[in-house]
Amino acid sequence: MLEDKNPQRTSISELGEFGLIEHLTKNFDIKHQSTIKGIGDDAAVLEFTDKQVVVTTDLLVENVHFDLSYMPLKHLGYKAVVVNLSDVYAMNANATQITVSIAISNRFPLEAVEELYAGIETAAKIYGVDVIGGDTTSSTTGLLISITALGEVDKKDVVYRNGAQPNDLIVVTGDIGGAYMGLQVLEREKEVFKVNPNNQPDLSMYTYIVERQLKPEARKDIVELLKHLEVKPTSMIDVSDGLSSEVIHLCKQSNVGCELYENKIPLDPQVISTCEEFDIDSTTIALSGGEDYELLMTISQEDYPKIKANPNLTVVGYVTELSKGMNLVTRAEALVPLIARGWNSLNDQA
Ligand code: ADP
Ligand code: MG
Repeated sequence: MLEDKNPQRTSISELGEFGLIEHLTKNFDIKHQSTIKGIGDDAAVLEFTDKQVVVTTDLLVENVHFDLSYMPLKHLGYKAVVVNLSDVYAMNANATQITVSIAISNRFPLEAVEELYAGIETAAKIYGVDVIGGDTTSSTTGLLISITALGEVDKKDVVYRNGAQPNDLIVVTGDIGGAYMGLQVLEREKEVFKVNPNNQPDLSMYTYIVERQLKPEARKDIVELLKHLEVKPTSMIDVSDGLSSEVIHLCKQSNVGCELYENKIPLDPQVISTCEEFDIDSTTIALSGGEDYELLMTISQEDYPKIKANPNLTVVGYVTELSKGMNLVTRAEALVPLIARGWNSLNDQA
C-alpha cells in the first residue's frame, strides 16, 4: 500500500505531540490581514472589519470517505482542504483561513503525516488561505481529518440556497460526473491489483477522471468571475453529491420547482467513454455521482447576456413555480421527476 512505499519510517512517538505539531506547522505563513494570531497560542485571533464571516467544517474518516490503497496521502491532504473551500465559495465568499485537526493511529509514521501536510500546505498556498490552528490526537485504528474553513464576504454579496425565483436559469460550472467515474476506475484497478500485485494499472486513458477524483479543485475562480461579470446568483450550492440532490436542495429551500435538461448537462468526453465501457448511463452518473465540487447556481434571466459566452458556465435548465415539481426533461422530451439519489457515504456503509 502507498504509505509503505516510503522506506523511512520515523515513529511519531519519538517527536511527541508538541514536537509533531511544531514540525508539521513550521512552514505555514500568514497571508491575510484578518489573521491577527495564527498557530501557537491557546486560540487563534481573527479580525474581520466590515465583512460577514462564513464558517464551514467537514470530517473525513478513513475507509468511509477515502481509501488509502489508491489515495496518496498528499492528495488526501489537498482534497480535504479543497472540499471545505468549495463550501466557502458556494456562499460567494473568499476563503481566508482553515484549521486542521487530525487523529492518527500508530500505523502511520511521521513520513506519512508529512505527506498529508505537504498536500494541505500546497492547497493552502494555491488557494491563498492561512492555516491558523487545529488539534492533533491519536486514534486506535484509522486516520481522521477534520478541516474548518472560514471566509469573508461583503454583506450584499452573500448567496444562499434559498433565493431561486421562477424563470431563473439554472447554471452549472465545468463538467459533471468525472470524479465518480474516476472512482469506478480506481476501484476496478484495486480489485485487479488484489488478484495480481505485479499488475501495474495503466490509467493513461483515464487521466482526467482519475485526477477529478484524487485531486479535485474548488471553484475560487468562479467567485472571481461572477464578480467580474457583475452577476450575483440568486442561489448557489456546491456539487458534492451529484447534480440531482443539489438541484433539489436549491428548489426545496427556495420553494420552487425546476426543469433540468438531460441534453444540456456538461459531460467530459472521458466521462462518456468510461460510462460506455462500464455500461452505465452517463446521465445517471451526472445526477447521482458526486465529488465534482463544481458550483450550481440560479441566475436571473436579465444576467443571461453576461454569462452566455462563458465556457465555464452552462445553462442546464430553469426554475419553475413550485406546483410544476422538479423534473428532468429527457432527450426524448419526457418529463421525469428528479429524485435525490445523491452519493451518500452513509448508504455506502450499509
Ligand atoms: P491545546 O492543548 O491548547 O489544544 P495544542 O498543543 O493542541 O493546544 O496546539 C498548539 C497550537 O498548535 C495551537 O495553536 C493549535 O491550534 C495548533 N495545532 C495543533 N494541532 C494542529 C494541527 N494538526 N494542525 C495545525 N495546527 C495545529
Ligand atoms: Mg489541542
